[in-house]
Amino acid sequence: MVQAVLLDLDGVLYVGNQVINGAAQAVHRLHDAGIKVAGVTNTTTQAKHSVAQKLQKLGIPLGEQHLFTPASLVKNYIGNKTARLYIRDDLRTDLQVTQSNTKPDYIVMGDIGGLGYPPQVLHEIFLHLMQGTDLLALHKNRFWKKEDGLHLDLGTWVAALEYASGKQAKVFGKPSQGFFLHICQQLGVSPAQALMVGDDIESDILGAQQAGLQTALVQTGKYNASFVQQTGIQPDTLLQSIDKLYIK
Ligand SMILES: [Mg+2]
Repeated sequence: MVQAVLLDLDGVLYVGNQVINGAAQAVHRLHDAGIKVAGVTNTTTQAKHSVAQKLQKLGIPLGEQHLFTPASLVKNYIGNKTARLYIRDDLRTDLQVTQSNTKPDYIVMGDIGGLGYPPQVLHEIFLHLMQGTDLLALHKNRFWKKEDGLHLDLGTWVAALEYASGKQAKVFGKPSQGFFLHICQQLGVSPAQALMVGDDIESDILGAQQAGLQTALVQTGKYNASFVQQTGIQPDTLLQSIDKLYIK
């Protein structure tokens, strides 16, 4: 019995600034049926309130209180310790922690914009790691796609620093099991009572399966049939789009 639905945002509810047909109605249906709903995104370029604004503009009934992002998890994890943050300005509202640029307990790596991490910044982080600072990564994606094509993503620089320092980063966000388990706990359901709906076969579907959730793959957004087949990963349900999501 599904008591909570976790919805990936980009590719499931909208693509860019275009809402997916039936997305708002589908979320309304879930609310009306008394099912707990969470918006789950790996975005590390926008704060939760910006994401909530976008959803509101698109007419999708998911507020800031329904959203889960890696930044809030990282903030909890850091707690009273200190960190040096490499993130976009917009994200700072979700990551208010005590900062130290000289001897931080943690380095936090997020998307910094442009073409990514320049060599002098990598060097700076490397020296911190060699002095005992631990590395936290908002995600570890290999590459991403924007209007002009493929680009290196955060995972590239995280991996480089892991290689050089011999240390492993603690990675937040999808597909980490901890992210899914944290959300289920916050919603007050067991993983088996939760359904993850996503367009990314690895990050959304495999990650959620490994955490014990039920899964539904939508054929919108980045969905690509031959790539899905190559991975061998089987979602519990395949939906044409979010429009077809009905919980019995
Ligand atoms: Mg997606």
